[in-house]
Amino acid sequence: SQQAQPAAAKVLKVGAEATFPPFEFQDEQSKDYVGFDVDLMKAIGKQMGVEVQIVNTAFDGLIPALESGQIDVIASAMTITDERAQKVSFSQPYYKSGLSIIVKADNNDIKAFKDLEGKRIAVQIGTTGAEAARRITDAKVREFNSASEAFLELKAGGADAVVNDLPVNEYYLAKGGSKDAKLVGEVLSAEEYGVAVTKKNTELAEKINKALEDIKQNGEYAKIYEKWFGR
Ligand code: GLN
Repeated sequence: SQQAQPAAAKVLKVGAEATFPPFEFQDEQSKDYVGFDVDLMKAIGKQMGVEVQIVNTAFDGLIPALESGQIDVIASAMTITDERAQKVSFSQPYYKSGLSIIVKADNNDIKAFKDLEGKRIAVQIGTTGAEAARRITDAKVREFNSASEAFLELKAGGADAVVNDLPVNEYYLAKGGSKDAKLVGEVLSAEEYGVAVTKKNTELAEKINKALEDIKQNGEYAKIYEKWFGR
C-alpha cells in the first residue's frame, strides 16, 4: 500500500541582526542563534506549521533584504516607526521598549539626555538610537555596525555615551558591563517592536498576527518572556 510522505516543512527565513542580546545573539558554545525574538519566532513558526531559519543580516540591511526577497520576515527588536511603516508592514506590537543612555561608571557629567549636547555618542547604524543621537545639538555621533561595538567604543574612551534600547543596555550591564559602565537618566522614548513583512504579503502578516495572538493566549509568550526577562 502507498504511504503518504510527510511534506517537507516550509521554511520561514527570519532576518535578524544577531548581536543584540537578549533579543538575538549567538550562543557562545553551540553557536546557535538564541534570544527572545528567536524563541518568539520559533513559537510563531510552530503555530503556523513552518520551520524558522535565522538569517543574520546587518541592521541597516534588513528592510532591503526583505524587499529583495532574501528573507520573509524581520524579527530584530525592530521598533515600529512611521518611516519604516511606509516600506514594510508590521505585526501587532510584541514588546515594549525605549531608548536609554549608558556612560562610563566614573562619568558624573552626563546625568540626562540634555547633558549629551556637544558630546561624543556611539550608536548602532540605522537604529532609533542613531536617529535620537543625531537630533542632539552639536553631538558627535559615531555609528557602528552593532551595539556591542558601540559599547566597546565607550569602554575604550572613544565615546562619552551610548544611546541604545534599554533592555539591551540592561542586559549588557548585567553581563559584566557594569564593571565600567552605568545607566543614566530617564527612558527617552516609548517604542514598540514589531515583526515586519513586505507590504505585498498581507496573508503572511495576518498569519503572524494570528500566531502571536495564539501564543499570548496559550501561555507560550509569557513563558518566553519569563525566560529572558524574569527575575
Ligand atoms: N529598536 C531599535 C530600532 O529599531 C534597535 C534595534 C536593533 O538594533 N536591533 O532601531
